[in-house]
Amino acid sequence: MIIATTPAQLIEALKPLHGDIGLVMTMGALHEGHLSLVEAARAESDHVVVSIYVNPLQFGPGEDFDAYPRDLEGDVAKLDGVDVVFAPTDEAMYPRNPLVRIDPGPVATVLEGKTRPTHFAGVLQVVHKVFNLVRPHAAWFGQKDAQQLALIRTMVADLNMPLDIRAVPIKRESSGLAMSSRNTYLSQTEKEQALALSRALEAGKRVALDGGSASQTLAVARESLTHAPGVKMDYLELVDRDTFMPLTESGNGLLVTAAWVGSTRLIDNLEVVIG
Ligand code: AMP
Repeated sequence: MIIATTPAQLIEALKPLHGDIGLVMTMGALHEGHLSLVEAARAESDHVVVSIYVNPLQFGPGEDFDAYPRDLEGDVAKLDGVDVVFAPTDEAMYPRNPLVRIDPGPVATVLEGKTRPTHFAGVLQVVHKVFNLVRPHAAWFGQKDAQQLALIRTMVADLNMPLDIRAVPIKRESSGLAMSSRNTYLSQTEKEQALALSRALEAGKRVALDGGSASQTLAVARESLTHAPGVKMDYLELVDRDTFMPLTESGNGLLVTAAWVGSTRLIDNLEVVIG
């Protein structure tokens, strides 16, 4: 496995590789969720590149950029069957403050984008750059970050980017907690309190499965999260799976939520069908 820390080293490392390159982009502190993306990429690619980069552009002021867990050595030890790890320094990634920027459009202003207004512009900027460097046949992203996945699909479609985007289901702890690098911030008590997110989504899903309406589904999920001890809801919404606009009638929906458990902000989502 080659570890490249600059775009030039990455390009050099890719030169001898022939065939389809699969890409998995991460911010490191790898867990089984990330590894399921690598597994999926390996199954459909001749070679796999994993990027590990805590992208400053996608963090807002006062967010956890400095505190975000970083453990390149530990991460590399977890990777199997990966040809190249791209772990650039900030100077290598952004030799200057980029003048040309990706505008992620209206979906980036709702839900995650409402609380984190510059987040998705920063995500798409780095994703676009790494796509250009690696030129993969496909890139794998987690359903865990559903809005991010939707925006990446939109960018690829609108800019005719020559690769496929593949989605991988959310990996959860046996407790139901969605795996996340940010779970390392949680105390044992907070880990238990954090189960309120997946429980609220499941409660909503049960209503939908029993034939409940969109508003009933949403109300039950919200009620569940609102009363959970130690948890402060940021949002819990029922949206259309493709457009991320509110789903008020029948259709393929996604219950999406973000909440603070102590000072840690967590996200989760669950597919529901209304009607
Ligand atoms: P991150 O390191 O948090 O930026 O995540 C890198 C990639 O892994 C993204 O495509 C995430 O959606 C995906 N990912 C993170 N957590 C999970 C999870 N629990 N299950 C599946 N994919 C995940």
